[in-house]
Amino acid sequence: MSMIRNVVCLFACIAIFITASEGVPLFLPSQDSSEQQADIAVIGGGCAGLAAAFTAAYLNHTVVVFAGDAPGGQLMASTRVENIPGIIPKTGAEVIEELEAQAISAGARIEYTAVAEVRHVSQMGPKFLITTASGTRWRAKAVVLAMGGTPRTLSIPGEAELLNSRIFTCALCDGKQTEGKVVYVIGGGDGSVDTLLTLHEFGAQQHLLVRSGSMRAAPRIQKRLQHTDIRIEYETQVVGVRLTDAGTPHERFEIVVKTPHGTEIRMADFLFYAIGHTPNTTAPWVRQLVKLDAQGYIVTNARQETSMPGVFAAGDIASPYFHQASYAIGCGQFAAKSAIDYSN
Ligand code: NDP
Repeated sequence: MSMIRNVVCLFACIAIFITASEGVPLFLPSQDSSEQQADIAVIGGGCAGLAAAFTAAYLNHTVVVFAGDAPGGQLMASTRVENIPGIIPKTGAEVIEELEAQAISAGARIEYTAVAEVRHVSQMGPKFLITTASGTRWRAKAVVLAMGGTPRTLSIPGEAELLNSRIFTCALCDGKQTEGKVVYVIGGGDGSVDTLLTLHEFGAQQHLLVRSGSMRAAPRIQKRLQHTDIRIEYETQVVGVRLTDAGTPHERFEIVVKTPHGTEIRMADFLFYAIGHTPNTTAPWVRQLVKLDAQGYIVTNARQETSMPGVFAAGDIASPYFHQASYAIGCGQFAAKSAIDYSN
């Protein structure tokens, strides 16, 4: 056993030597031997987090990324990402894999574990103490929060099995396949107008189902729908979905809706949810560390600074309006630059 440990140690030393000789930043031990240390800690392994990690490591800072148990974030669900300028279409998983490889080759260290807490501490040394779910402790001079958001879903019967095959939450990511197809969209807010117009561009035949008697979207934004042939139904709620005769030529995707006239079945090709996002800020430590807005998004300024000096936020966690990979990547890079300026 000890021989295996020695061999592993030898390889680790060689790896550190090679890494150092290539000019990539080195991780130094913390003053407290039970803690590890990095210049910048990135919480979140989606596109914003990985872009922040790459940028800070590339600029010669030590970076640790806490990517959680299921790294990659929302993009992992996209079957085809074709709206990142300069990137040829590929799956979300491929985009993440490349961002991750780029961050690692620049010297970032990725820990596949969730974070239990980030705290500002007054002891000597780097000011932020990060404790992982497994109890490991890290100190960092600056922190980038990039835990992303989660598109809301309805949690109705049949949904879990059909999510990302018949049911989607991102029109730009998954709308291309809707050309000439019958698509139901659930929503009513400004975001649903974006979804409808995107799917309209792709050539979908659309029905919008609004749960209340009117759309919440601003009248000016609703006006953008006036030259489309989208059918809007009010006081209509989806209560279930199912796929019958799956895998046969008779396969049917059925949407069960409750209307003012009773329960009905609608045949469709796809269902898109446009019912908002929830930022991943519900953990108590997030609320203690930084200021959130009324919807739970982290409040940032134009430099991605939060209310806590030394803590920056990027991507969907700090963006109530725009939920796109390219935007998250840019924000992540900007947050990394601000974190570097702070930690220098
Ligand atoms: P919103 O929270 O504003 O709207 C969500 C919509 O989904 C509402 O119509 C809501 O209905 C409906 N909804 C929520 N839950 C359910 C459910 N369980 N079943 C059926 N319907 C449901 O989210 P958006 O993503 O639309 O917008 C988020 C923010 O981004 C807003 O501040 C918006 O103004 C902004 N935005 C601005 C844009 C712009 O161009 N200016 C474009 C896109 C977004 P109900 O009204 O009944 O609650």
